Amino acid sequence: MPVPKKRRPHARTRKAHAANFRAAAKNFGICKNCGAAILPHTICSVCGFYKGRKVKTTKLEKQNVRKARKAEENNK
Ligand SMILES: [Zn+2]
Repeated sequence: MPVPKKRRPHARTRKAHAANFRAAAKNFGICKNCGAAILPHTICSVCGFYKGRKVKTTKLEKQNVRKARKAEENNK
């Protein structure tokens, strides 16, 4: 069985793999609502928009609703 003659440095391995990462990054699209980088055919995770309409409530929005509810309860 062939065995590598010398140890391959971590940097050299990562440099070789970087070419593959660059090719993969080309497939990113841009959200038409907020401009964030998104994968094609997926809901934007930042604003929850898909094809120009709202389809999902984001984590941040849910947090804001919870905070508002708590603030209301404290005021009572
Ligand atoms: Zn978006």
